[in-house]
Amino acid sequence: MVHKRSRAKSAVKVACPHCGVRLWRLNSNKNYIFLDTVQAVMAATGFNRKRAMLLTRQGVYVDHSRWIESFFCPTHGTMWLIVNKDKDTGEHEVRVPNDQEWEKTCGLIDPNQPNPSVSQYSWQSSRGPVVSGSR
Ligand SMILES: [Zn+2]
Repeated sequence: MVHKRSRAKSAVKVACPHCGVRLWRLNSNKNYIFLDTVQAVMAATGFNRKRAMLLTRQGVYVDHSRWIESFFCPTHGTMWLIVNKDKDTGEHEVRVPNDQEWEKTCGLIDPNQPNPSVSQYSWQSSRGPVVSGSR
């Protein structure tokens, strides 16, 4: 069998952060994280300061290796998780997004209007209190 290496099929295999069970994807939108500071762009892209500054000056930089998507766990129900795609291995890592990350999605999720399909449990456990006016 010829195995073309590379392209580790971008299947997202993620486990529930609460119980470790493999999660189902719900085919929700990927809510990409945008980066609006030079530091954030540098951290996410590895670009040097100059290039990162250039990017941020052009507008908001969207990090396509990080997004918030909804998943389903048989035990814990539907939950929104932030997916981090490792640029080198192509593997995905998920965790519960923090407030800052919610604020930095591309505006597809209104944090004050939970998706009705999101169970109360996952909603509460995936979101801390809303912090407004930070920064
Ligand atoms: Zn679970």
